[in-house]
Amino acid sequence: MSKTLTSWKEALGSDAKAYKQLVMDRDAKVASFLEFDTKRCNVASLHDNPVLNGLPFAVKDNIAVSGFHCTCGSKMLELFVSPYTATAVERIMAQGAVPVGKVNMDEFGMGSSCDNSAFKKTNNPFDSARVAGGSSGGSAAAVAAGLVPFALGSDTGGSIRQPASFCGVYGLKPTYGAVSRYGLVAYASSLEVIGVLSKKLDITKAVFEAMKGIDSRDHTTVDLDAVSREKAVVKTVAVLKIDNSVNESIRNAYQASITALRAAGYAIVEVDMPTLEYAVPAYYTIASAEASSNLARYNGIRYGRRPVYSENPDELVRQARDEGFGPEVKLRVILGTYVLRSGFQEQYYQKAQKIRTAIRLDFDRVFKSADVLMMPVFPTTAFRHGNADLDPFQQKVADKFTTAANLAGLPALAVPGTMENGLPAGMQFLAPAYHEHLLFQVGESLAGTMPAPAAPDFPEVYA
Ligand code: GLN
Repeated sequence: MSKTLTSWKEALGSDAKAYKQLVMDRDAKVASFLEFDTKRCNVASLHDNPVLNGLPFAVKDNIAVSGFHCTCGSKMLELFVSPYTATAVERIMAQGAVPVGKVNMDEFGMGSSCDNSAFKKTNNPFDSARVAGGSSGGSAAAVAAGLVPFALGSDTGGSIRQPASFCGVYGLKPTYGAVSRYGLVAYASSLEVIGVLSKKLDITKAVFEAMKGIDSRDHTTVDLDAVSREKAVVKTVAVLKIDNSVNESIRNAYQASITALRAAGYAIVEVDMPTLEYAVPAYYTIASAEASSNLARYNGIRYGRRPVYSENPDELVRQARDEGFGPEVKLRVILGTYVLRSGFQEQYYQKAQKIRTAIRLDFDRVFKSADVLMMPVFPTTAFRHGNADLDPFQQKVADKFTTAANLAGLPALAVPGTMENGLPAGMQFLAPAYHEHLLFQVGESLAGTMPAPAAPDFPEVYA
């Protein structure tokens, strides 16, 4: 690069050419963007937001941005260009930030690696042989490689926090209903929420502040300021007891985080959460059930790619779904219809809903003795592409720590943690519903000792 770039604010201004080149060069290695165009969106800032104004950002490809494709990482929607923009994106644009492209993801948000994308495999900026995580792996990799100062993702069962932790960045999964889902393509509607990934906590916070709040186009949205009981400070942090199911890297990072919390002056209490054992089966039952219903609309007639030729309408639907969906999506649609089939709902779906309530009550109990709760995000650091480290079933079992927050609707923040054997090992904090501000507080007090690490091949260009 010929000239020194000093600030993200110049990326789309005086640095426009150099910035584009930087993204092209770096993304050749990372493969995070599915579509990149700095000029597609006309942004007229309505506010003078000191943090966001002028910043470029990336959007996960299941969140609508008018004029860009919205493929959800699926062949089914390969040709679909969104005619409208998600509320969350609109609100960020109103603060002067500019969407510059759409980033890779596991098909319809189903996966933990980004390898389930129909289009490409995204690489971890710290080691190309490893995954960036998923399903918002494109968002995390783009941020970690220094391509954008922040990216939007969605979190149904950990899809923001797990890739954030694999790539050493912050990842916020807001309280369910805090951010409008209008314009987010539905996977499991009762679990998911739009959130943000960034190397900077002040940007994470500013994006959340911009996105949050009531939206008449999503009736599950809430006015956070009205419901949050302003408990200004975190004094006590609960830490979950962990065992050997968590690998050594994560255990090391966990110990270092506890030490850092103590040094920051927090009281620490160790807690057990017996219901966590049941989070994964409950999550996959509920998520698959909702997915089987939400994905029924892709039949080649109402939505989704239409086969070139078919004998009759039945054949058309069968062909559209057979050609359009990848194996993981098919697996979950079949699982979902299985758990919902008539006469068996008591056995699976309703049992899962009871577990969901038990998990929520378990969190209530923990938050009686502490203000926030720390736990690992994932039992390992970033794993290798393919099945060598974790096969698809083991990847699901490993969602133990992330899915609980979605089942209970709670806010959670993944923070960078430490570097272990050259890979980031993040942690997460959970808070009572509507208490995101507690997460930011504890995040800020660790930011000095545990900042987002720079990947060796992708040194910081902009501050
Ligand atoms: N690993 C989870 C799954 O495969 C992630 C889901 C998500 O948050 N979109 O369902």
